[in-house]
Order: sequence, then C-alpha cells, then structure tokens
Amino acid sequence: MRATKDLLLKLQKLDDEIAALRADEESIPAKKENLEEGLKAIQERVEEHKEQSIELAKKRKEQEIELESTADGMGKFQSQLFQVKSNREYEALQHEIAGLKEKSSKIEDVILEILESSEEISKAIEAEEGALKAESERSKTEQAKLDGELKELTDAIKVKNDERARLVADLDKVLLARYERIRDNKNGLAVTSVENGACGGCFRRIPPQEMQNLKRDDRIITCEGCGRIIIWRWE
Ligand SMILES: [Zn+2]
Repeated sequence: MRATKDLLLKLQKLDDEIAALRADEESIPAKKENLEEGLKAIQERVEEHKEQSIELAKKRKEQEIELESTADGMGKFQSQLFQVKSNREYEALQHEIAGLKEKSSKIEDVILEILESSEEISKAIEAEEGALKAESERSKTEQAKLDGELKELTDAIKVKNDERARLVADLDKVLLARYERIRDNKNGLAVTSVENGACGGCFRRIPPQEMQNLKRDDRIITCEGCGRIIIWRWE
C-alpha cells in the first residue's frame, strides 16, 4: 500500500509541475500580443501625424493660392489708380486696396500658423519614428526570447508527460481513474498529506480514530471534508 501511496504522491507532484509549465506556456501568446500592440500603437500615432501633416500642406497650398489671387487683385486696382478721373473714384480704389491688404495680412498670419503646426508635427513624427525603430528592435528581441521560452516549455512538458506515462503504467487503473476524477473536481489537487494533524487540502482537523487508520496504511483513505485522497506522511 505504501508503494501505491508513494506513486500517488509522485503523480500529484508531477501533475503540479506539468500544470505550472502549462500555465507558463499559455501566458506566452498574450505576452507576444502585448508586444505587437505596443508597436502598433506607436505606428498608429505616426500614421495619424502623417495624415495631419498632409492635411496642413493642403491647407497651406489653398492659402497660398488665395494670397496670390489677392495680390493679383491688388495689382489690378493699383494700375487703375492712374486711370481714374475723380477723387471719389480714387478714394474708392484706395478703399478696395486697403481691404485687400488687410485680407493678405490675415492670410499671411494663417500661413504662419500652419507652418508652425507643420514644424511641430514634423518634430513629433521624427521622435515617434525614432521610438518606433527602437521599440521594434526591442520587440524583435523579446519575441525571439519568448519563442525560445515557448520551445523550452513545450519540450519540458513533453519530458514530464513521458515521465507521467511511465509512472501511471505502474498504477492500478481504477485508482488512476479515481485520482483523475478527484483532480478534475478539486482544482488539480487530488492527493494531499496530513499537515499538523489536519488535511493538507481543506485544513479539516483529523479525528484520532481516522489518524490511526491513516497511520495503519492498509487502504486508500479520502478526506471526509474535501474528498481528496489523504496520505500519512512518512519521514
Ligand atoms: Zn480535506
């Protein structure tokens, strides 16, 4: 009976190790995805700023065309100044010219603002592209590291599974099925031992009579509290 119980304890330990390795293995895709998303966020920021930059260039072009046509209009009025015959006509033309001058000065202000914004955005793009380059290099290294870890974990799981297959070959099939059933229902912990007079799974105090049965070691005993297989720990 003792050999069987040792096998059960070994199996539980092995299954704990496999579960831990699997959890690590399963955490890797999310880590890889995080890296990709971090990179994508910077890329999106660069794209957004590039679009803004194109939009500003378009606006600037429009304002420059407007400025040119204003200058043309001014030139026309100015040449007409020499042909006018009355003071009233002269003043009216001067008034038109002054209006166009004000308009061009406003357009020039707008163009200046656009230039300032464009410059800011260009600087931002430059900084972001630098960050993108550094980040994609870091990401590439990290991805390779994670791929390496994943391979190591997959290999380790295979080794443990092979070990498990050898171990369960020596275990009674009915007992193994019972072990598997308890493990499925009890968060992966099917076999536990007596810890300070209590069940190591649910911490229920074990009555003296039950303790005697456990020490006698002539059958498989399950905890009345949690239903796990409970084993007296021989030192
Ligand atoms: Zn228990």
